[in-house]
Amino acid sequence: MSKTLQAIKGMNDILPGSVTRKDKLPDSALWHWFESTVRSVLARYGYQYILTPIVEPTALFVRGLGEVTDIVEKEMYSFTDSMNGDQLTLRPEATAGIVRAMVEHNALYNGPLRLWTLGAMFRHERPQKGRYRQFHQLDVEALGFAGPDVDAELILLVRRLWKELGLVEGDHVRLELNSLGQPAERAAHRAALIAHFEAHAELLDEDAKRRLHSNPLRILDTKNPAMQAMVEAAPKLMDFLGEETLAHFNAVRAILDAAGLEYRVNTRLVRGMDYYNLTVFEWVTDHLGSQGTVCGGGRYDGLIEQLGGKSAPAVGFGLGIERLLLLIQELGLPVPSGAADAYAVIPDAAALPQVLPVLEALRAEGVAVQMHAGGGNMKSQFKKADASGARYALVFGADELSQGQVTLKPLREAGEQSLQPLADVKHWAGLLRGPAGNA
Ligand code: ATP
Ligand code: MG
Repeated sequence: MSKTLQAIKGMNDILPGSVTRKDKLPDSALWHWFESTVRSVLARYGYQYILTPIVEPTALFVRGLGEVTDIVEKEMYSFTDSMNGDQLTLRPEATAGIVRAMVEHNALYNGPLRLWTLGAMFRHERPQKGRYRQFHQLDVEALGFAGPDVDAELILLVRRLWKELGLVEGDHVRLELNSLGQPAERAAHRAALIAHFEAHAELLDEDAKRRLHSNPLRILDTKNPAMQAMVEAAPKLMDFLGEETLAHFNAVRAILDAAGLEYRVNTRLVRGMDYYNLTVFEWVTDHLGSQGTVCGGGRYDGLIEQLGGKSAPAVGFGLGIERLLLLIQELGLPVPSGAADAYAVIPDAAALPQVLPVLEALRAEGVAVQMHAGGGNMKSQFKKADASGARYALVFGADELSQGQVTLKPLREAGEQSLQPLADVKHWAGLLRGPAGNA
């Protein structure tokens, strides 16, 4: 026998709940429910759907994200196209591709755009809970808006999503907010930062030494305990921010305050990509260990021009779907099962020509009906009905059928079973229809 093939480490199958899996990754019903909730929420804010390729020229990410970022330095899946020698990369994030597409299609010519997408991203990281090599993001971008109103809109949109998913803001997820200022302010801060680090050169580790002149801001992100005190005492960007920047930041805060949204200003929040300026934010949780950032984003006013477009401001965020669904699972929040409303028990296959039109009529009424297939007696079919998670069994037994009827039997809740007329599906279909959003 040949050796069985396995998925690449850190790249997961998303499977129906009926498949028992060793890891505890969320099942496809949860994904489905998340996606339909997202679609509904994004529509209510006027965001439009976009899909861009999963493979892009490597140069897009090097130019877009910055050469001295974790992603570009060590996390990208890059390869040479064997057909023509092009340097290509599996997208590690969505913003650069969306901006590339908008520039390429001159899409901002007619005004600003609100966009969203959802899909797989690839980063060569050490796989662990909440960190994978293929993972999925919801990505939302508002292009051509200078803010601060749209900055706040994006944050409030995420809060709306939390509400609809049953997450309690402040308890399950918290907002952290910062301003990264404008390039000139960052340059002044950067110079002060380098001076500070140079004055403490003996404390710097290899990573920090390498980044001292290329990306000193990222040194603030260090997890090295020996550097914590020194990093703590470093000059704060907040002290270098000018009037306009502070006005922008305060305007975002004022909208969030008025909306009753609590947040923490975290002056250490820097984010992993170089393209950010002004507002940056993260939604974090304490329930996922060290993979606690569920959603992160901010303003990137320079990126569109940097990627060859006419200068235009923009803001957006990425949300890690695996982390979010793990969190929902961990908290034990109520989620749809993905089961059908009803399971059709059909003990005699000869009855199928009579039964199938009834099932079709139910589906036309919006009822999710799973038909038993593969034969078996009444008892074994009932077992399947139970295991399917359906709320009702529809029993098309010989007795019922001879009277032009079907038995509705509740499987999950207490309740009387009833006989219903086959010819009049419209009148009883409503009994079967599950709560909206059942995947
Ligand atoms: P981290 O600090 O955890 O590595 P990041 O700053 O690299 O996160 P972003 O690039 O901001 O993450 O991506 C946005 C979101 O995507 C993250 O907040 C997280 O929820 C999710 N995410 C990022 N990398 C991974 C990964 N390797 N596996 C699963 N989810 C991820
Ligand atoms: Mg990362």
